[in-house]
Amino acid sequence: MTNTHDHGGGVRSVRVPIPDNPLGHTLVYVVDTDRGPVLIDTGWDDPASWDTLADGLAACGTAPAEIHGVVITHHHPDHHGLSGKVREASGAWIAMHAADAAIVRRTRSAEPERWFTYMAAKLTAAGAPEEHVAPLRGARRRNLPGLSPALPDREIVPGDLLPLPGRRLRAIWTPGHTPGHVCLHLEEAHPAGLPGNGRLFSGDHVLPEITPHIGLYEDPDDATITDPLGDYLDSLERVARLSPAEILPAHQHPFTDAGTRVADLLTHHESRLTDLLSLLSDPLTAWQLAERMEWNRPWDQIPYGSRNIAVSEAESHLRRLVKLGRAEAVAGSNPVTYTAV
Ligand SMILES: [Zn+2]
Ligand SMILES: [Zn+2]
Repeated sequence: MTNTHDHGGGVRSVRVPIPDNPLGHTLVYVVDTDRGPVLIDTGWDDPASWDTLADGLAACGTAPAEIHGVVITHHHPDHHGLSGKVREASGAWIAMHAADAAIVRRTRSAEPERWFTYMAAKLTAAGAPEEHVAPLRGARRRNLPGLSPALPDREIVPGDLLPLPGRRLRAIWTPGHTPGHVCLHLEEAHPAGLPGNGRLFSGDHVLPEITPHIGLYEDPDDATITDPLGDYLDSLERVARLSPAEILPAHQHPFTDAGTRVADLLTHHESRLTDLLSLLSDPLTAWQLAERMEWNRPWDQIPYGSRNIAVSEAESHLRRLVKLGRAEAVAGSNPVTYTAV
């Protein structure tokens, strides 16, 4: 089967498609244990994706009904989308870090109207123009994916071994892409004898050719000023220190030499922060900074929803620069503008 791959040592993967998304697919890993296979992530909640997962498991000699447990790297719908269906089919447990489980709980209980009102206020404070904010006022529930994600039934505790009978899989907390993102370290010799410490399932934290999005995760009930980019950079160094023999990411393809990839990502973020500082020689709002940042296409071609993500990314960079003492808010500005120090 072309959708499955045997990585050796009782680890296989299924390429589960993500509909209408340039990422293409999620790599769902199937880890054999003494009590049946455990999945790392499950893929997007869509009938064709479910069929691909079920066919892939069959090609691995198993089935959804035989899954013993599900370990989720983070709550995004391309990773956690099918978890509920797997649990329904098998009675498997679902494990997730508490910080992402809190987001799942919030998403399930959120009244969409309240969320849209909150978003409108946030965007206005970031300097978004009225024509961008207006559609959010009076917006009603639409059929957005991931509005009712499955509640996990186990908590992933950083540093602990996961309950995989006969295997050594340790949770490494890597906040940044999401607050509760974890990588999973398989502390077993590499099946092909590659040098290094075992294998690391990296989720979206470290991918071979893409820099993951680092935005804000806002909780309307919590005013804590978080620093997700700072968290991400710390988490990258944590991965480099493990020096795994091979990285098994959730998108694209496995790769070796984690240290080089981490160094590239650190350099990328440092040069991006330096570029942003030069833009901040004039005071800018988060929105104005987002308009001037480099994206994969010109600002006027970026769709509505992606602009919100871009502003969130601009804000996470501003927070990092403020925390480093390299930028500051201009006193009395409203919406708040920032300038290089
Ligand atoms: Zn993600
Ligand atoms: Zn992803």
